[in-house]
Amino acid sequence: MLVLVFNVGSSSLKFGVFRIDGEAREVLKGSYERFRDGGCEVRIRHAGTEERRTAECDGVAASIAEVPATLDRFGLGSLEAVGHRVAHGGSLFAAPVILDEATIARIETLTPLAPLHNPANLEAIALSRRLWPEIPQVAVFDTSFHLSNPPFATTYAVPKAWREAGLRRYGFHGTSHKYVAARAAEEIGMGLADLRIASVHLGNGASICAVNRGVSMDSSMGMTPLEGLVMGTRSGDVDPGAFGHLSRQLGLSIAEIEDALYSRSGLKGLAGSADMRDLEDAAARGDADAQLAIEVYAYRARKYIGAYAAAMGGLDAIVFTGGIGENSPAMRRRILDGLEFMGVRLDHERNQAADLSGQAAPQIQAYGSRVRVLVTETAEQLMIARETAMAVAGPKPSTGRVPVAVSGRHVHLSGAAADTLFGPGYVLTPQTPLRQPGHWAARERVAVEGPKGRLDHVAILGPLRPRTQVEISRTDSFALGIDVPVRDSGKLDGTPSVTLVGPAGTVKTEGLILAARHIHTNPADAARLGLEDGEHVDVHVGDDSRGLTFARTLVRIGADSFTEMHIDTDEANAAGIGATTDGEIVVGATATIRPGHR
Ligand code: ADP
Repeated sequence: MLVLVFNVGSSSLKFGVFRIDGEAREVLKGSYERFRDGGCEVRIRHAGTEERRTAECDGVAASIAEVPATLDRFGLGSLEAVGHRVAHGGSLFAAPVILDEATIARIETLTPLAPLHNPANLEAIALSRRLWPEIPQVAVFDTSFHLSNPPFATTYAVPKAWREAGLRRYGFHGTSHKYVAARAAEEIGMGLADLRIASVHLGNGASICAVNRGVSMDSSMGMTPLEGLVMGTRSGDVDPGAFGHLSRQLGLSIAEIEDALYSRSGLKGLAGSADMRDLEDAAARGDADAQLAIEVYAYRARKYIGAYAAAMGGLDAIVFTGGIGENSPAMRRRILDGLEFMGVRLDHERNQAADLSGQAAPQIQAYGSRVRVLVTETAEQLMIARETAMAVAGPKPSTGRVPVAVSGRHVHLSGAAADTLFGPGYVLTPQTPLRQPGHWAARERVAVEGPKGRLDHVAILGPLRPRTQVEISRTDSFALGIDVPVRDSGKLDGTPSVTLVGPAGTVKTEGLILAARHIHTNPADAARLGLEDGEHVDVHVGDDSRGLTFARTLVRIGADSFTEMHIDTDEANAAGIGATTDGEIVVGATATIRPGHR
């Protein structure tokens, strides 16, 4: 499949053509930049050749109009889909969407959230649909990846009426963060689900994303792409009190303040140029403004990395991308110097020599650094092409049904914990066999205690395990008074501790989790259901009245596993189901990357 991707910025049009046959390969890359009266700079790369020229196009519309002839010239006229990067999808678009009149109208409703960005994207969509009316066109949103952010990360502490009017944090650069986090995990050789990554995108726009075990947990950009880091021309974080002050002291209107924060702030506001190369040169010549700008830029980024390490309860990798992240070893070093206390140590030679050609993602941490540091080119257009192809292919039809079991709160005990709770050498009594072969519920029970309250008669599931694990619902977590993370079973590092009380003693143990919903299955059933180990699928559960689709359900294949989906009591209540029911698997709807896929 041949896919054209458009990426429209405020002063540039970038586009790429990708051939997708399992893997996605870029076959042509083009850009129209530095629009000014009567002209712009064009760059086209194809099959190892590069063409540079100036053209008469003075804006996005004129540039897009030239694209069909360019594609024809390189024999790439037979497109099958067009993908568009769209800045703001609000809460409406958690995944790419095929563009028709109705979806375009829904995107238009979001213009108030992104008045500078979405209209340019919509203009490109309209032009492109006129040029290629016959082929499907898809919008891929910068915000979608962050819709997994928890409410405590997205909520501004402002009056309810404002929040109801749409004031919340969204986050941007989602396609980039999603790509580089997956690329880093691949390079490190671990599953994304096992890594806490700070993805640091430093381009003209800049943001850091906390990618917590494969899921965006927080992003430095907020309701608009103005919050967070210092950028080329955008301020990043500013005290909102500045609005009143500027209005009273300088008589500025809201529009004037907003314009300055977007277009005349950031590096440009501090040192006169939005281009980090200019600033690095000027700073080296002794320019005090450029020196301060570089220091402010690095300090802000370092603070966010520290904050996100705290948010995720630790940090396994930092990934740099974007024009500055990819090309400025000095800025990478300046940001990371001083983070040694949390296990970040850079290898200065590797940092200096990082070679990103061929989609490389070199690791530049020093030997023995607890946190990995990587650099890689972002490939937003490649991701957009891939997601466009997936959207056009449509969700695969339901591949089958799985039984759903509702797990009440329970614990798995280690041998040491069982000894302490019930007495040395005590053997638990299997009472009820579970459907997973060899697993049972014990006759014995324990109590679980937290600072706020206590859960009595909690079931113990056997056999014993190497580590104690306590699985409760989110509602239970409030009854205990402990903030409990969602985790895959067995992924217990850094989980909160809790007290278990048995007849013979008390155990204080980590391992308290809200179990991530999952499907156990075996190789034969997995093949029948079209499932792969480690992938996430969506599963529709429940009836017409209260049924709902559970996204991101992890597939776990075990040699002898009984095929069954496990959800907790909160999830079951939300879907209005009783103890047992069937779920319908909808593969391909969850916008995640399958393990091993780039
Ligand atoms: P966009 O967000 O528009 O895609 P880019 O990712 O291309 O922007 O990043 C542009 C930024 O990268 C500019 O500030 C530019 O100065 C910076 N940059 C590019 N090359 C270098 C370099 N070798 N050293 C320092 N900064 C660089």
